[in-house]
Amino acid sequence: MAKIHNLGFPRIGKGRELKKALESYWRGETTERDLENVAEAIRLENISLQRDLDLVSVNDFSLYDHMLDCSIMVDNIPSRYRIDNGNALDVYFRMARGKSAKDSGETRLSAQEMTKWFDTNYHYIVPEFTSSTLFAPRPMKLIKELSEAKNLVGAKVKPVLVGPVTYLKLGKEKDGSNRIDLLPRILPVYGTILKNLADQGVEWVQMDEPVLATDLDEQWRGALRRAYDELSDYGVKLLLTTCFGELRDNCYTALALPVHGLHIDAVRGAAEIDAIASAIRPDQTLSLGVINGRNVWKSDLNSILDRIEPVAAELGDRLWIAPSCSLLHVPISLEREKSIDPLIRSWLAFAVEKIGELVIIKKALDLGRSSVGEELEANALAIRSRRDSDRVCNRALREALAKITPDMERRKSPYCKRTDIQRAVLDLPKYPTTTIGSFPQTVEIRAARSRYKKGDIDEAQYEEIMRRQIANAIKIQEELGLDVFVHGEAERNDMVEYFGERLEGFAITSSGWVQSYGSRCVKPPIIFGDVLRRGAMTLRWIKYAQSLTSRPVKGMLTGPVTILNWSFVRDDQPRKDTCLQIALAMREEVLELEKARTGIIQIDEAALREGLPLRRSDWKEYLDWATGAFRITANGVNNQTQIHTHMCYSEFNDIIEAISAMDADVITIESSRSDMELLDVFDDFRYPNEIGPGVYDIHSPNIPSVDSIVHLMRLAAEKIPSERLWVNPDCGLKTRQWDEVIPSLKNMVAATKILRGEV
Ligand code: GLN
Ligand code: ZN
Repeated sequence: MAKIHNLGFPRIGKGRELKKALESYWRGETTERDLENVAEAIRLENISLQRDLDLVSVNDFSLYDHMLDCSIMVDNIPSRYRIDNGNALDVYFRMARGKSAKDSGETRLSAQEMTKWFDTNYHYIVPEFTSSTLFAPRPMKLIKELSEAKNLVGAKVKPVLVGPVTYLKLGKEKDGSNRIDLLPRILPVYGTILKNLADQGVEWVQMDEPVLATDLDEQWRGALRRAYDELSDYGVKLLLTTCFGELRDNCYTALALPVHGLHIDAVRGAAEIDAIASAIRPDQTLSLGVINGRNVWKSDLNSILDRIEPVAAELGDRLWIAPSCSLLHVPISLEREKSIDPLIRSWLAFAVEKIGELVIIKKALDLGRSSVGEELEANALAIRSRRDSDRVCNRALREALAKITPDMERRKSPYCKRTDIQRAVLDLPKYPTTTIGSFPQTVEIRAARSRYKKGDIDEAQYEEIMRRQIANAIKIQEELGLDVFVHGEAERNDMVEYFGERLEGFAITSSGWVQSYGSRCVKPPIIFGDVLRRGAMTLRWIKYAQSLTSRPVKGMLTGPVTILNWSFVRDDQPRKDTCLQIALAMREEVLELEKARTGIIQIDEAALREGLPLRRSDWKEYLDWATGAFRITANGVNNQTQIHTHMCYSEFNDIIEAISAMDADVITIESSRSDMELLDVFDDFRYPNEIGPGVYDIHSPNIPSVDSIVHLMRLAAEKIPSERLWVNPDCGLKTRQWDEVIPSLKNMVAATKILRGEV
């Protein structure tokens, strides 16, 4: 009898109840009890949604982040966050979110660093270590959620822990020590916790070690061996869990560990199934993650069965079936999707529907396919309907793709020629000032959008409100004396969804929310078919903005790689092919903006870096097609049209050549938080074009001083010739208030005047 189980379930609640509960708690409108009630209701609902499984995960819920929970569980709380006799929840949220000086009445406390969870769009709180970090077992949350779950499903519980090696590996040491040295200290704490679980009657514990899908050196492999040698004897069975990729060169290490079971990502790691199934020891269980936990498509159940029936025959009840990874990365349920095209809806499976797929697979394995004949037939129908749909494939586009020539990726002249032409046309001062695109999304803007969506106001009324916002943004920029303007993006709910709503081949859900971090959720569009541009998407807004001023207003687009990386993508063709289609569509928009005499066009590639594969050996291939797609979008313009791009991160060292190969005339980047350290990369690499290193951190409500901006720009001028420098904030300003933005930009302009006086 094959077992079915899940690795983790979304925590936000079907109606994003957790988000609402958290935010009202943070605003001080509700109590800890209220928050806990909502959290408990979500956990109970999650369990009931998974009751057909043989094992239900426990401790996959989190109020903010599971890595932060793990820090609490092992008592790794840096002293600055501790409060004497303080409330544990306060400490937790101080670590997650920091405290502004205003709120704390003391000094400002910054949050712990946050970064991306592998190659997902989920962010975790980075554990901090020093050589003197001590650990202690504090499994209160785990034990509480365990007994809560046991009340509902009895022995079917399977606690989930972040494994000790992944926990250490994903953290950061703050004092130059080596965090791997902490392993001997943390293992006894895990041991105590496992023992505790055994005492509670737990049989299986899921130990998440997704670092197994990344490049590991011998030291870290040794850490895995040491960890599991030590942890295998505490009276519970360990299911060592990896996901997000193949095991490759870590395969031998994983198979040699003395654990009772191994879970692999059998979607991305499909090629390894047979090798691993035949190498698994006779006393071990193999869990195959055959249901894609990273995407929203219905699984092809018949071909999954073709694939795993032979393995089941071999392994019998030592075979378990699961999603490839935690379902955290997909929306909860299709139930609320009433407005999406029914045909496309019939191709989808969110978390709840994926659990349903597991149930069918189990029956088919246990009782034969005929026991679920109807379900399998319906599934096959949906799979065929998608494969054969004329909504998916567009002949004309396929022909256009076949005609792409290398020429389309190249500007007509190199930057050194273009720059003279652009300088003559644009006539900008030295150190031109600009912003990254968005201005505050005010209450008024959001209210107008929601009224428009509900049908309370019509399109004309909505557009009128947006035009007023644009006019206001232009007026403010005139008063500030900026050099290159933006229209402010008032009309955009989201920089990817906005384009997804306007391009052919995209479906937009109404409630397909996925947690990004804490209470923040995103609603990725779903790319189901060939991507085509129906018509102009941004033109009239830019034209209107330009009609109000003689200063240049930048055309503002999202680049193909970012649209791809922040969407759910097709699984029936390689990512790069989809990216190329988006690139062609966006290229048309670029050319139309140019035709309408938009002299500067910015194409944001905020998500280019995060698309990097987990394995370094796969980077080059990705960077080649990703930057190629950007060039297709951007480089069809004439010499005098200035192309900008924006990237909001600062680790460029390892991809700087690829970025420079994009050949944008101007790139704006994040850098203020690192005190321009990122520019160190230009010691060795001469970036050939213009750069606007962000001079202040837009994530903070603080107003940057004139001096700090002058200071940062002087640092930048040490690395990059000043005639190629721009002055701008780190990123878009949509999350800020006007009363923060205006004084900040005033200081930015004042600082620029000082700098201009110096040259
Ligand atoms: N143009 C976008 C904005 O200003 C860029 C956002 C981003 O980089 N994430 O909001
Ligand atoms: Zn940005």
